[in-house]
Amino acid sequence: MSGTYLGLPSFPRAAAESTRDTQLRANLTHATHTIRDKRAVAIGELADWPQLRAAGAQVKDRTLRHLDHYLLQLEAAVTEAGGTVHWAADAEEANRIVARLVHATGESEVVKVKSMATQETGLNEALAAEGIAAYETDLAELIVQLGDDRPSHILVPAIHKNRTEIRDIFRTRMADWGRPAPEGLSDSPAELAEAARLHLREKFLRAKVGVSGANFMVAETGTMVVVESEGNGRMCLTLPETLISVVGIEKIVPTWRDLEIYLQTLPRSSTAERMNPYTSMWTGTSDGDGPKVFHLVLLDNGRTDTLADTVGRQALRCIRCSACLNVCPVYERAGGHAYGSPYPGPIGAILTPQLRGTDNELNASLPYASSLCGACYTVCPVAIDIPEVLVHLRERVVQGGPVTLRGTRTTIKPARGHAAERAAMRVGSWTLDHPAAWHTAQRLALRTRRLHPERAPGRTARAWTDSRELPALPEQSFRDWWRQRRKTRENGGDQ
Ligand code: SF4
Repeated sequence: MSGTYLGLPSFPRAAAESTRDTQLRANLTHATHTIRDKRAVAIGELADWPQLRAAGAQVKDRTLRHLDHYLLQLEAAVTEAGGTVHWAADAEEANRIVARLVHATGESEVVKVKSMATQETGLNEALAAEGIAAYETDLAELIVQLGDDRPSHILVPAIHKNRTEIRDIFRTRMADWGRPAPEGLSDSPAELAEAARLHLREKFLRAKVGVSGANFMVAETGTMVVVESEGNGRMCLTLPETLISVVGIEKIVPTWRDLEIYLQTLPRSSTAERMNPYTSMWTGTSDGDGPKVFHLVLLDNGRTDTLADTVGRQALRCIRCSACLNVCPVYERAGGHAYGSPYPGPIGAILTPQLRGTDNELNASLPYASSLCGACYTVCPVAIDIPEVLVHLRERVVQGGPVTLRGTRTTIKPARGHAAERAAMRVGSWTLDHPAAWHTAQRLALRTRRLHPERAPGRTARAWTDSRELPALPEQSFRDWWRQRRKTRENGGDQ
């Protein structure tokens, strides 16, 4: 991934900070509860939801198993339709390709529609370094950009802001980026939307280059599919003369028939709508209609390494609906910024450490950003078993082991800072394997119970008891209680 998020603190440290922000927690609680309640109603309308969910998972799994085949099919179809395909192994290469393509047009500004792939690569910063201004056109992305902020939700990147905060951003920052906010702008949704519309319209009509992502790429025809609520994506796809789309290689679906599944499950899971207000499907170039030049940049950036992991690869099924974020008790309290990645919430906790590796403190902390309650798995429309992958990645963080990095099979060491956990697990495992030692340890612990501290000793263990109390030990172990009870019975006692 890009360097944009490097140097951020680990999840526990960032979350300790963000959970103290009561305004943020109130904004998030209100927004996530509203979306998830509506989603439950929308899902309940479909009698065949379990079948759709299973089909969505199966199609993705089959496609990922034969990804090489479908990617070549897609390349051939896009080329035949008049587009050009570029392959980017990592974020730097993708950014280099896009900057080169923009320079080739002679332009120094682009309009962008929300694209997680370009957030992942840090494209805006890379383009700025090349003297190219990138203007976000999705309303929530615009708010984030004007506020010098980072997105905190997959679908609603400015979910952490309320209306008053958005009005203040528009009033103070819009003029720096183009058309200023209207005089006396209030915080009513209609006025805010109109201010954004006027500001963006000017950019759409001027831009010669558009940059987009895609929700899906249909391999059989080379068609790009973008689903959205506002119509700004459609403007970006159709108005500029040159369109450059940066798309992760896992976004592919083999056929239009397969697409049918996700066009039912994605809107209901993400915005609780039966259908997206705007579904744009674009195939190559056509005379007199839409962009004259179309470039597709297919991004790997850790995806084939993820594919090599038989447990973790299910994360690549993700259709970015954000349902898992909206039900996650950890996300609801910590907010999206604490994950230090464009992919927050439960999916971010499993996707980011796989795309970036677990060799820094932030990435290694992400598999722990979960209570393992399983709500994310229950709502996921492509049945990603997020708790299973979290446990798998925790094992990798603590023990190291074989992984694939940049296409090469290698063995990684345990992440730093888990020595105490490893030692405790080793001692625990040995003690449980030796019953006599276990009983002795148990009796010793019970006899000294009054001397036990209320907080665990040591830096790592103490962190665990920062927000929990150590459980008090009973006077007697269950085993001793059972023995005593049985003896009493044998002696004719009344228990
Ligand atoms: S993991 Fe599942 S629930 Fe979460 S964003 Fe992806 S598809 Fe949606």
